[in-house]
Amino acid sequence: MVSFDAGTLPLSIAVKKTYAGYGKGYPCSGCDATVLPSQVEYEVETNGPTLRFHIGCHGLWKGERIRRDRRRVTETRSVRYVCARSRRAPVDKRS
Ligand SMILES: [Zn+2]
Repeated sequence: MVSFDAGTLPLSIAVKKTYAGYGKGYPCSGCDATVLPSQVEYEVETNGPTLRFHIGCHGLWKGERIRRDRRRVTETRSVRYVCARSRRAPVDKRS
């Protein structure tokens, strides 16, 4: 995945619609290789550029987006946990 390695592939982008069809000769947004007419192409409409992937590259990109979202949720939970503890701290001091 050339674009993944280079960090140029958007991960936090809003996906509007995803279409599946056969390649039309456009380069894959993940690996830069041409998606051939004999290969399945995933065309992803976003709030930014339209992305086109091989089926495998789309899976990797999707997985990476899910992994990033889970990491963000975990970070949010740990922040909440810290806030809950700091709220409890003044109560402990009074007793
Ligand atoms: Zn690809």
